[in-house]
Amino acid sequence: MHAMHVLVLGAGPTGLGAAMVLAKEGHRVTVVEQDPPPPVGGADRVFADWKRPGVGQFSVAHILLPAGYGRLRHELPDVVDHVLERGGRPHNVIAGALRLMPRGVAEPDDARFATVAARRPVLEAALLAAAEHTEGVTVRRGTRARGLRTEVPSGAGVSHVTGLVLDEGEHLSADLVVAASGRSDLAALFPELGRQPRHIERGWRYYTRHFRSSDDGAAPHMPWPLHHHNSVSIIVVPGDSDTWSVSLVTSDRDQDLRGLAREDVWHRAIALYPGPAPWAKGEQDAAVMRAMGEIGFLLVDPATAMSKPGLTARFTELAAGAPRYAEGPDRGELLAAVG
Ligand SMILES: Cc1cc2nc3c(=O)[nH]c(=O)nc-3n(C[C@H](O)[C@H](O)[C@H](O)COP(=O)(O)OP(=O)(O)OC[C@H]3O[C@@H](n4cnc5c(N)ncnc54)[C@H](O)[C@@H]3O)c2cc1C
Repeated sequence: MHAMHVLVLGAGPTGLGAAMVLAKEGHRVTVVEQDPPPPVGGADRVFADWKRPGVGQFSVAHILLPAGYGRLRHELPDVVDHVLERGGRPHNVIAGALRLMPRGVAEPDDARFATVAARRPVLEAALLAAAEHTEGVTVRRGTRARGLRTEVPSGAGVSHVTGLVLDEGEHLSADLVVAASGRSDLAALFPELGRQPRHIERGWRYYTRHFRSSDDGAAPHMPWPLHHHNSVSIIVVPGDSDTWSVSLVTSDRDQDLRGLAREDVWHRAIALYPGPAPWAKGEQDAAVMRAMGEIGFLLVDPATAMSKPGLTARFTELAAGAPRYAEGPDRGELLAAVG
């Protein structure tokens, strides 16, 4: 195999994951990232102080879905070790359903719903640590790429991408450039690609607050994580180090609910939902986090759920057994609380 020098644009989960996989295959990889490195310190410091303007959703609720966790455990097990070292918690995404349902029982293959819970900054710090320990990977932070380096090889007739041009004017050459720049629009970033800028339909707006138990630091058992109500969905997910987050998710077009960004309004609103309300009483109440999401939130593949009688039965029982989580205000009451 011909060993290449690969430039990866972006040190998010995709860029770091790609860098490690490529390096393990024998390639030399340089990752270029505009944002600064994480601060030195433990998980709470990383969560509170890591500035990541390049990733709008950095501080909102994230859960590593079981399929992604499975890939990590199989291909990059070091990353999982680094997450656990930083207080990540083994978590099974359907365990909350078992607790809510009086008749549900665990089944042996429920293990496939396993993952590791960690706040997104902590998960990313673990990915970065694993990448920096991987032979062949170099991560350059605080370095913004502003253009592509291109050449027309003799006889080729069309230009080939041969590297990146950095903000400082430095040229980096490579055999391959991997664009892992997330939601930044490649057409706007690299006009030389000749693509039309795309319109990003945002869809969702997350209002997330993070909590920690005041009860000896012991994390309470997680409930079923996702609940749909009139005008909002509510997501309760575990994090590392005995933390969890509660998110009120609205349509991005719902201007009337923008007040949820305020701490007092957020607490007034969550108090209207008897199921998740107790989860909004923690010792630590970090600053409210907002981000707009392009994506929905999917925990289990509905096709799998439907084809597995055990699981389908569980969902049916869940619907019957969790009326408390279904309780909530109508839109008028919610708007009155948001003011
Ligand atoms: C509100 C919300 C909630 C979400 N919840 C979940 C969830 O629960 N579970 C889940 O699995 N996923 C979730 N996601 C999706 C998840 O956040 C993304 O899939 C993930 O961030 C994508 O990683 P990435 O590495 O591709 O891109 P990013 O994380 O966006 O990283 C791209 C990197 O490229 C860098 N970059 C961009 N341009 C340049 C440049 N010119 N020069 C140098 N660096 C550059 C950026 O600074 C950034 O660090 C959520 C997304 C949103 C919006």
